[in-house]
Amino acid sequence: MKVLVLNCGSSSIKYQFFNTEKKEALAKGQVERIGMSSAILTHQPIGRDKIKIVGEILDHTIAIEYVIAVLLSPNHGVIKDKNEIDAVGHRVVHGGEEFSGSVLITEHVMRVLRENIELAPLHNPPNIKGIEAAKAHLPNTPQVGVFDTAFHAMMPKHAYIYGIPYELYKRYKIRRYGFHGTSHRYVAERASKLIGKNYNDLKIITCHLGNGASIAAIDRGHSVDTSMGFTPLEGLLMGTRSGDMDPSLITFIMSKEGLSLAEINTMLNKHSGLVGISGTSSDMREIEETILEGNQRSKLAFDIFCYRIKKYIGSYIAVMGGLDALVFTGGIGENSILVRKTVCSGMHYLGIELDFELNNNTKGEMEISSSASKAKIFRIPTNEELVIAMDTSEIVEEQKKHAG
Ligand code: ADP
Repeated sequence: MKVLVLNCGSSSIKYQFFNTEKKEALAKGQVERIGMSSAILTHQPIGRDKIKIVGEILDHTIAIEYVIAVLLSPNHGVIKDKNEIDAVGHRVVHGGEEFSGSVLITEHVMRVLRENIELAPLHNPPNIKGIEAAKAHLPNTPQVGVFDTAFHAMMPKHAYIYGIPYELYKRYKIRRYGFHGTSHRYVAERASKLIGKNYNDLKIITCHLGNGASIAAIDRGHSVDTSMGFTPLEGLLMGTRSGDMDPSLITFIMSKEGLSLAEINTMLNKHSGLVGISGTSSDMREIEETILEGNQRSKLAFDIFCYRIKKYIGSYIAVMGGLDALVFTGGIGENSILVRKTVCSGMHYLGIELDFELNNNTKGEMEISSSASKAKIFRIPTNEELVIAMDTSEIVEEQKKHAG
C-alpha cells in the first residue's frame, strides 16, 4: 500500500510517502512558512536530488495541493496518478481519553478532535486543518489518525490522576495524558526484536530526547507511566520548557515580575529549560560546544538535563520492579555520546552499565551496554512516520476486509 504521512503544524507540514509492503519511504519533504508569501517547499524523492521551491502558500489546503503536485511531478515525483495514494496517515497530537489506538477518521473522530482543542490548543487545530485539507484534495482516500497520546492511554489511574480535587478531572478531563507515544512504542518494539524476546515479557524504559523530551516506563507492552502530563510541559528539562517544578512558582513569579497568564505560559514553554538556564542555547549541540569553551551555565543546564533523566529512570525501575532494557532515541538520545554517558554513570547497582567504546561509535540501531550490564542499553533511531504509515495500512486493510 502507498501511504502519505502528514504531520501538520501551525505554519509547517512535514510529509513522507511510503511503500508499506517494503516499509520504505519513497519521498519526503516539508512545507515551511505556510501563510507567508515566501513559503518554502523542500522535496526529496529518496535516492535522488532534493529540490526547493519558494512561493506564496497561504494555507494548509494550498500546501497539501503542492505536496500532491510534487509527488506527481514528472521530474521529481514518485507517482503518476493521484489515485496511487491509497491512504493518508495523520499525526495527531491529542486524542484525549477517547482513543487508545489509531483510528480511521470519521465524522465522529473529527468531532472528538474538535472537542479536544482545549487540551492541545497549539497542536490540534493545525492537525484538524491538515485532515480537512487532505480530504478536500483526496475525498475518496481513507484517512487515519495516529495519536501521540494513544500509547499511554492504558496507564493506570494512580499514574494519571493529579493530586488536586477529583471533580476537576471529571469536569475538565484534567489528568496526565503523556505524549511521544508513537516513538516510545516504536523503539520499545524494536528493542524487544533486538533482544529476541516477546515485547509482552519485557520491562523497558524509553528515553525520547529531542527538543521536546519524555521518558516512558513500558511494562510488558503497556506504557504504565510517562514523564509528560496534561501538556508536554511536565517532566524532563527540555530545550525551552521547564519540565517539573513547584506549581506555586507560577503565582510567585507572576506577582514578582508582573506577568500575565499568557506571559508566564510563554516563559515556561519558550524561555525555560536548557535555554533558560544556560542563557545561551536550547540546542544540545551548542550546549555541549559552549561547555568545552568553559561556559559554566551551559554545564549547569546540561547537568540538570541529565540528572532529571537519571531520577526518572530510577523511579521507573521502582515502578516496574526491574528493567530489561533502556533505550535512547530522539535527536539527543541518538546523537549525544555525553548525555548517554552522564545519564548511565553510577547506575551499575541498578543493573545499568554502558560500554564506553560502543557508546562512542554508534550507528543505526545498536546495543551499547557492557557484557556485565543486567539491563541492555540501546541506541535506536526513532521512526514515527513509519509507525504512522504501518498503522494506517493495517487499519485500511482491516476496513476493506470488513467492507468486502
Ligand atoms: P524535535 O523534538 O524537534 O524533533 P530532535 O529529535 O530533532 O528534535 O532533536 C533535536 C535535538 O537533538 C537538539 O537539541 C540537537 O542539538 C540535538 N542533537 C542533534 N545532534 C546532536 C549531536 N550530535 N550531539 C548532541 N545533540 C545533538
